[in-house]
Amino acid sequence: MERIAIYPGSFDPLTNGHVSIIERGLEIFDKIIVAIAINVRKTPLFDVEERTEFIRRSFPSERVQVETFEGLLVDYCRERGVSVILRGLRAVSDFEYELQMANMNRKLDNTIHTVFMMTEESDFYVSSSLVKEVARFGGRVEGVVPALVERRLAERFAKSNESS
Ligand code: ADP
Repeated sequence: MERIAIYPGSFDPLTNGHVSIIERGLEIFDKIIVAIAINVRKTPLFDVEERTEFIRRSFPSERVQVETFEGLLVDYCRERGVSVILRGLRAVSDFEYELQMANMNRKLDNTIHTVFMMTEESDFYVSSSLVKEVARFGGRVEGVVPALVERRLAERFAKSNESS
């Protein structure tokens, strides 16, 4: 039987922290479905098509699929027939939120399990929001995000700085 995990998140944009979780996840699972959450309450920097492109181009393998979902994660897992949710853990600050979410998801469906992978030391401080803050003010994000993402961030903020 194929071992499949769903790795959900905003991925706005993909960082090397996410890349590391996917790479290491592929050592455990046969296939990973990277599921971009569409959240109407958040205004993303990159639209879903761009976020999808970043992941697809970083992982051209058939073992990594990129999809989007709206609504409850457990409903999406059931729809896809997948019973494992993969999440990454960075600092202690991630823990409480992740614990709450994993417990809530288990309450909603106890056949779906959340598996956590620890961040690599080098990615400890890496988050999409921090990357956006740094790039917005012209800071270098080389080595923190894939090269394609680095270029797109620079383009995006060059444009918005011109127009402001
Ligand atoms: P969300 O809005 O769901 O937190 P993110 O795109 O920020 O979406 O994160 C998706 C998943 O990737 C989460 O499980 C998060 O903890 C994990 N993650 C994000 N950055 C890192 C990192 N630097 N190292 C390890 N895991 C990470």
